[in-house]
Amino acid sequence: MSGHLKLFLLLLLWTHKRKQEQVAMTKIALITGASRGLGKNTALSLAKKGVDVIVTYHSKEAEANSVVTAIEAMGAKAVALQLDTSNTKTFDSFEEQVKKSLQDKWQTEHFDFLVNNAGTGINKPFAETTEEDFDRLMNIQFKGVFFLTQKLLPLINDGGRIVNISSGLARFTLPGYAAYASMKGAIEVLTRYMAKELGQRQIAVNVVAPGAIETDFGGGVVRDNPDINKFIASQTALGRVGVPDDIGGAIASLLSEDNKWVNAQKIEVSGGQFI
Ligand code: NDP
Repeated sequence: MSGHLKLFLLLLLWTHKRKQEQVAMTKIALITGASRGLGKNTALSLAKKGVDVIVTYHSKEAEANSVVTAIEAMGAKAVALQLDTSNTKTFDSFEEQVKKSLQDKWQTEHFDFLVNNAGTGINKPFAETTEEDFDRLMNIQFKGVFFLTQKLLPLINDGGRIVNISSGLARFTLPGYAAYASMKGAIEVLTRYMAKELGQRQIAVNVVAPGAIETDFGGGVVRDNPDINKFIASQTALGRVGVPDDIGGAIASLLSEDNKWVNAQKIEVSGGQFI
C-alpha cells in the first residue's frame, strides 16, 4: 500500500471515529409538557446549548411540532411524542415510543436528561376542593411524575440528570392552592429520595421551583389578569412577574456540565417572590 493511500485511510478512520464520538457526546433531553410555556422554553434553551430534545405534548400536537421545527432550525435534533402523564396505563406504550424514537433518530438506547415539567393546577379553597379535583391533580402532579420516572429509568444514561418542577407556592402560602402546593411539596421530598437512590448510577436529581410566570397555566391568570399581575409584581423583589425566558435558561444551565455537582437541591427561580 502506498504511503498516500495509508494516510488517506487513516484520515478516513479518524474522521469516522470523531463523528461517532460527537454523536455519543450529544446529550438528549426528554421534557414533558414541552408544547407550551415553561417546557417549551426549556426545550429551546437546551437546544441553544446543543442538546437534542424529545418534546412531549398532551393535546397540542401542532404546537409541539412547531417546537420541533424551531429546535431543528437551531441545528439540534428533536421529535414530538404524545403523552398523558396523568394516565399511568399509557406509560408502557410511551416507553416503547421513546425507545423507537431513540433508535430511529439517534441510533441509541438512552437519553440523558429528564425534565418532569407537565402539569396543570386548580385554584380552589381547601374547604371546597373535591376528591375528584384532588385525584385529577394528584395523577398529573405527583403520581405521574413518580411512575413515569420509574418507567423511564432504564432508558436514562448513567451520569444523566433529572429535574422536577415544583412551585414557589410550596414555600409561601396563598389561599386557593392547598392541593396544588401540597403536591409540589411532595415533589420536593421525592426529589431528595430520587437523588439518594439514583446516586449509585451517578444520576443527579434537583427540583426547580418557579415563582408566578406568565404562561397559559391556570387559564393564563398571571399573564392576563392585570390586578393579579400587579399584585405579584409588587411582592417580587425584582419588581415584575416572571416570563418563560426566566425559567428555561435556568433549567438549561442547571443541566450544564458546570452544575454537575449540584444534587438533591431545590432551586427557587422567582425573582425573589414573597421574601
Ligand atoms: P402551561 O399550561 O403553559 O403548559 C402545560 C404543559 O403541560 C403543556 O405542554 C401541556 O400539553 C402539558 N400537559 C397538560 N396536561 C397534561 C397531561 N395530562 N399529560 C401530559 N402533559 C400535559 O403550564 P406551565 O408551562 O406554566 O407549567 C409547567 C409546569 O410548571 C407545571 O408543572 C406547573 O405546575 C409548574 N409551574 C408553573 C408556574 C406558572 O406560574 N406558570 C409556577 C410554578 C410552577 P398541551 O400543550 O398538549 O396541552
